[in-house]
Amino acid sequence: MGKEKNQKTVYLFGDKKADGDASMKNLLGGKGANLAEMSLIGVPVPPGFTITTEVCTLYNDKGRDYAVSLIKEDVEKAVAEVERMTGTKFGDSNNPCLLSVRSGARASMPGMMDTVLNLGLTDAAVAGIAKKSNNERFAWDSYRRFVQMYGDVVLGMKPESKEDIDPFEEIIEAIKDEKQVSNDTELTVDDLKDMVKRFKAAVKAQTGHDFPEDPWEQLWGAVMAVFDSWMNDRAILYRKLNDIPAEWGTAVNVQAMVFGNMGDNSATGVAFTRDAGTGENIFNGEYLINAQGEDVVAGIRTPQQITKEGSRRWAILADVTEEERAAKYPSLEEAMPKIYTELNATQNALEQHYKDMQDLEFTVQDGKLWMLQTRSGKRTGAAMVKIAMDMLKEGMISEKEALLRVEPNKLDELLHPVFDKDALAEGKVITKGLPASPGAATGQMVFFADECEKYENSILVRIETSPEDLEGMNIANGILTARGGMTSHAAVVARGMGKCCVSGAGSLVIDYKTRTLKVDGVSLKEGDWISLNGTTGEILEGKIGTIDPELSGDFGELMTLADKHSVMLVRTNADTPHDSKVARDFGAQGIGLCRTEHMFFEEDKIKAMREMILAEDEAGRREALDKLLPLQRKDFEGIFQAMHDLPVTVRLLDPPLHEFVPHEEENQKQMAEEMGITVADIQAKVESLHEFNPMLGHRGCRLGNTYPEITEMQSRAIIEAALNLKAQGITAKPEIMIPLVGTKKELKMQEEIVRATVEKVFEERNERIDYLVGTMIEIPRAALTADEIAETAEFFSFGTNDLTQMTFGYSRDDAGKFLPTYLDKGILEYDPFQVIDQTGVGSLMKIAVEKGRKTRPNIKIGICGEHGGEPSSVEFCNTLGFGYVSCSPFRVPIARLAAAHANIKQGAWDADNAKETLKESAKNVADAVSSEYANVEKEAKKAAKKARKEAEKELKNLRNEAKNIFKKFEEEIKNLKKK
Ligand code: PEP
Ligand code: MG
Repeated sequence: MGKEKNQKTVYLFGDKKADGDASMKNLLGGKGANLAEMSLIGVPVPPGFTITTEVCTLYNDKGRDYAVSLIKEDVEKAVAEVERMTGTKFGDSNNPCLLSVRSGARASMPGMMDTVLNLGLTDAAVAGIAKKSNNERFAWDSYRRFVQMYGDVVLGMKPESKEDIDPFEEIIEAIKDEKQVSNDTELTVDDLKDMVKRFKAAVKAQTGHDFPEDPWEQLWGAVMAVFDSWMNDRAILYRKLNDIPAEWGTAVNVQAMVFGNMGDNSATGVAFTRDAGTGENIFNGEYLINAQGEDVVAGIRTPQQITKEGSRRWAILADVTEEERAAKYPSLEEAMPKIYTELNATQNALEQHYKDMQDLEFTVQDGKLWMLQTRSGKRTGAAMVKIAMDMLKEGMISEKEALLRVEPNKLDELLHPVFDKDALAEGKVITKGLPASPGAATGQMVFFADECEKYENSILVRIETSPEDLEGMNIANGILTARGGMTSHAAVVARGMGKCCVSGAGSLVIDYKTRTLKVDGVSLKEGDWISLNGTTGEILEGKIGTIDPELSGDFGELMTLADKHSVMLVRTNADTPHDSKVARDFGAQGIGLCRTEHMFFEEDKIKAMREMILAEDEAGRREALDKLLPLQRKDFEGIFQAMHDLPVTVRLLDPPLHEFVPHEEENQKQMAEEMGITVADIQAKVESLHEFNPMLGHRGCRLGNTYPEITEMQSRAIIEAALNLKAQGITAKPEIMIPLVGTKKELKMQEEIVRATVEKVFEERNERIDYLVGTMIEIPRAALTADEIAETAEFFSFGTNDLTQMTFGYSRDDAGKFLPTYLDKGILEYDPFQVIDQTGVGSLMKIAVEKGRKTRPNIKIGICGEHGGEPSSVEFCNTLGFGYVSCSPFRVPIARLAAAHANIKQGAWDADNAKETLKESAKNVADAVSSEYANVEKEAKKAAKKARKEAEKELKNLRNEAKNIFKKFEEEIKNLKKK
């Protein structure tokens, strides 16, 4: 892609004007698009410009020189505009223009890419800033920060491993040592000047080049460094975790600097229009007086709260008295009341404008408020639900919007256990931090992010986290930090991940060397269990039990709304009365898959099952099956009762028989004793059951067709259980499902056995019930011949686990060996066992649905593979017009919401399609009319021409005739005269 003529690469904003707007996120990135929008709606933003994401892509494809030549002229013009709007000059020694250079991708990637602040500072410009701010210390402090940041980010001097020391930090420490001071703030102007000199010497020593004194060289270096940071390891990992494609690229935002560190009349902060942890409609955030933006999130100073209410709540959690709070940590509302009023009005306006909870960044420079960023705030699952439902009630958004605001997968956080209250009461709270991301976590302590895999359940304990720790944070059950506020890196990232996090637990003494944690006389070491309560901020010693969460209130209302807006029902995959009940409580509308074999593993059943397997002949098998019948019937009664009035799909025996016999000698000996036979007999049987590819072997309906007595027993158990319940006034709705069918005869044979058995039971009982017989579609051949299968099957349930296995030819049990590599190398975009492969497996499903409906227009269709609880797969099933999806109990709410999303999106898609079709036909009509009109016009013109010609001819004739008459007349007069 080259630059098209007129392709705009640089978009200006500022002075209540902008070239772009909020709808241009793809081109300008989230930050750039929102800066433009804020400027357009009159929110004060420092002027600047955005270099588009397209330039980043070109930079990655064609390199630096190409990218610079593409945008050079436009960037120069844009800088001139910023100079004009700010009344400053880039690199000037009197009134220099200083810039910030920041990344800004389409999707927010907090802290993953690079930023350079105070750009434009040179030996000349620093004097200008000192003069302008009337604060030499501030000028030199900004300069030394700039040289360090530029050295780290642009000149590649950032330490690469955790053992390396940042050369700039080393110099700072040396100067502080020499001057015998402990805080940076105690350093004098001369110290800072000396620091800049030493920084520059370090740059020269490490890179071999002088630090750039030309502001333009600085600017190009920084812009390209931001483009480069799109491809750094942590950005790549973050994209992978969040499904962000590499092709998107990042935009670069270059903006006039405003300073929060210009003295006590300046400040900087971050804020949320609602609580990102709980969803409570309360303005909240943190700020620091006389600080730069990075100071708030870096967790180096303890940030103060923005509102008085928030400050009071913080003080209680932090064990700070009201007097101490008001004196030492006043809120912005108290410390800068005018600014607070303006900020509060701005946050209200922004939330109303965007109709969503906003995450804001602001700076106060010398008593003037500037907004640096607004974006939809990341939030926990609980906050997501509450904010959506509150905004619906406030009339801000519609029901459909409220549903679409909640990511189905985020509900997972709400469905998982919290601490058992009793266990919690027993637990010993060792200290308290900030409740940075709610939930409960328990695990063994690790102190380094790259060691989180050491234990199955780990808690990452750090003084503070940084973006490098991302992978470990993702693995750990929870995160604990000693430093950092509610907007620290750890807190923001953990909330995004829905992971429990306690931050800013200042009383913890963490020693990385000895891998220990000490607090108030308690000493813990790596590997010790601790528990975190992300909702209260409590840190507890030991492992604490958990319980299932309460699901009512907003969550319940959201679910009701989801059902209102979806057409597909959600069933569950459950094999026990307990799971059935859990799923029903979660809103399951039936069972889509009851795997009967799971029932056979309990003590009394496995014995009878093994007797059947060991039996020499049919008579022996029947004898064993007779023992199984009452046990199985009882299981079904329990499930039917839990699911009364709702359909229950019971699948007949599916797995290969070897799964029911022991393979270890120890267990074989035990079985031999129980059965009163020799170990050798058992081993011989196990050997005879051995298959090279058991998943493609003697399983599914192949079992029922070789041993019809198994099908008979199971059919009888199902129907007798249903009749037994009927006698108690309970309605059971069984649907008998034949697994692993590939040909119509396989199914027909099974169906005949089922129906004959059922009829026999009906006769014996002199009582009937309604029931269905159907099949799974999980073999490609069944999908391709679904019209024949539907002659017998009253319903289809897609077994997408096996269908994926057989379509790809990937063994379900062995794919783990290569799938991770395939995903890493991009051979596969996602794991097809988790997300339906719509192109391949999906095509087979589509064929099966179409063919099945051709034979049996009202055939019931659903899905019961693992994909039934995965949102994008649920959406796909909706497009095929499925009646239901079925998934594990804990995924039922997720699938209900996904089903609503699917239907809403499908509706929008249908509406768009209808609009397109209408547009198309309107265009066709218009085309037809205008071509008809052109014809008529042509005809009319032709006719007019002809008429004119004829008229002219007629006129000519008349003239001639008149001439002749006149001639005759003249002659006659002449004759008369002669006479
Ligand atoms: C399937 O194959 O998708 C299915 C649900 O059956 P199972 O996982 O039991 O093979
Ligand atoms: Mg299967």
